[in-house]
Amino acid sequence: MRIEGRCHCGFITYEAEVDPEKVMICHCTDCQTLSGSAFRSVVLTRENGFKLLSGTLKSYVKTAESGARRPQTFCPECGSPIYSTSEGDSPKVYSIRLGTSLQRRELVPRLQIWCRSAQPWLSDLNSVPQVEMH
Ligand SMILES: [Zn+2]
Ligand SMILES: [Zn+2]
Repeated sequence: MRIEGRCHCGFITYEAEVDPEKVMICHCTDCQTLSGSAFRSVVLTRENGFKLLSGTLKSYVKTAESGARRPQTFCPECGSPIYSTSEGDSPKVYSIRLGTSLQRRELVPRLQIWCRSAQPWLSDLNSVPQVEMH
C-alpha cells in the first residue's frame, strides 16, 4: 500500500510503500519517552520502501539495553518523529510513525508489543469521559 506523509510544519514530506498488515503499537518505555505519549504506533515499510520528497531529516541514535542501535529520525524544524530504521548499508525496513501518514485512518493496529510496560489505564480508555473540542 502506498502512503504519503508529512511532519507537522510541512518541511518534511515523504512517500512510502507499506504493509497494512504490519501496523503495531509499542508500549516500551523508550517509545513512551521518544513519542512524548502513552505509546507509539507505527507501520512497517517494505525493504527500502521509504522516499523522502522534501526537507532534511535529523537523526538520533537510540541504543537499546541489548546494545542494538537504531537511528530515530525527526523533523529538525518542528520535532515530529518520522521513522526509525537500522544502521548500515543493507536493505532497510522503515518503521514509520503512524501519525505522520495522511492515510493513518486506514492503518489499523494488528499487534501490540512490550505490553508489560503499557500504561494501565489504556485497557479501560472508553470509560474516560469524552468531550468534543472546537
Ligand atoms: Zn516539521
Ligand atoms: Zn518501543
